[in-house]
Amino acid sequence: MNKSMKATSISEIGAPSVLQSTQIQTPTPGKNQVLVKTAAVGVNFIETYQRSGVYPVQLPFIPGSEAAGTVVELGEAVHNIQVGQRVATASATHTYAEYFLVDAQKCVAIPDSVSDEDAAAVPLQGMTAHYLINSTFNVKAEHTVVFHAGAGGVGGIALQLLKAKGATVIATVSTDAKEKIAYSHGADHVVRYENFADRVLEITDEQGVDVVYDSVGKDTFDDSLRCLKKRGMMVLFGGASGQVPPLDPQKLNQLGSLFLTRPTLADYTLTRDEISWRMGDLFDAITAGTLTVTVDQVFPLKDAASAHEYLEARKTRGKVVLVP
Ligand code: NDP
Repeated sequence: MNKSMKATSISEIGAPSVLQSTQIQTPTPGKNQVLVKTAAVGVNFIETYQRSGVYPVQLPFIPGSEAAGTVVELGEAVHNIQVGQRVATASATHTYAEYFLVDAQKCVAIPDSVSDEDAAAVPLQGMTAHYLINSTFNVKAEHTVVFHAGAGGVGGIALQLLKAKGATVIATVSTDAKEKIAYSHGADHVVRYENFADRVLEITDEQGVDVVYDSVGKDTFDDSLRCLKKRGMMVLFGGASGQVPPLDPQKLNQLGSLFLTRPTLADYTLTRDEISWRMGDLFDAITAGTLTVTVDQVFPLKDAASAHEYLEARKTRGKVVLVP
């Protein structure tokens, strides 16, 4: 496609205001890629890290990896996708734009029953929740789980999927409003971060839980270990409060032969089959009404700076989406 398109890019590191509208050449798909006309873009924390310099990127840079849209052009080796098909992905590049490129193996078709905004909102947080509770630790009805930041994006989806599995879920949150959200997503117990380990031990008759999902990191890690049963699993998957310092493995022995893992989405979406399985389950749950995706705010693409400000203010009660 030989024409220009609108995009939002950063040409310097800094505050949200460095996100600026720009006009660039529409990209051409490589052999195994497709070109997609953007319908909606999912905004993620990683883009704020790239903008502010925490994760280095080469400037000028167009952020964004998650989006939904309609395929308009195919690379010469792509046979499994048609022009005109609606697709969603968590692993495209530069999706803060009117068109984006994605590897044909890394996108899935969107069913008619799922809207563009929901389809853009679900891939990254949804597949994260899916791999955490099905693959990192396969939660069953007999398990009791602690899920931190239960009113957040990953947390909100995970709680609903855990409820559908029949597990007992204890969520942590920071405010009354978030407590209501976590209950509405299916938590059995909602506790605050202060003394949460004591509360968890009280709720479980001092037994502890089978697995803790911890994305808060530095502030919660030690107490999360204390919440676990013997041979329980600690799943550390983020560091919203800061990264966890180095750990002496002896500690896992002293606290009851614990398991510790630090997983990441890329390692759980290695193949097209794996992505199709996870996204298929998520779309099926949305269609069946057992999973509600909360799109909290929709901003115009040219106003991506406001989306970043909103995310960084810890205000989100669901997904932030951009539309061109
Ligand atoms: P959330 O919507 O969950 O936002 C983060 C939440 O963390 C906040 O809303 C807040 O909820 C809680 N929190 C606790 N302490 C702090 C703090 N000191 N500063 C800021 N927030 C804090 O974000 P996402 O759903 O997008 O992501 C959740 C986590 O999962 C992130 O840490 C992210 O990096 C990680 N992640 C990891 C992946 C992986 O594969 N490893 C993939 C995707 C995301 P509250 O106010 O209730 O405490």
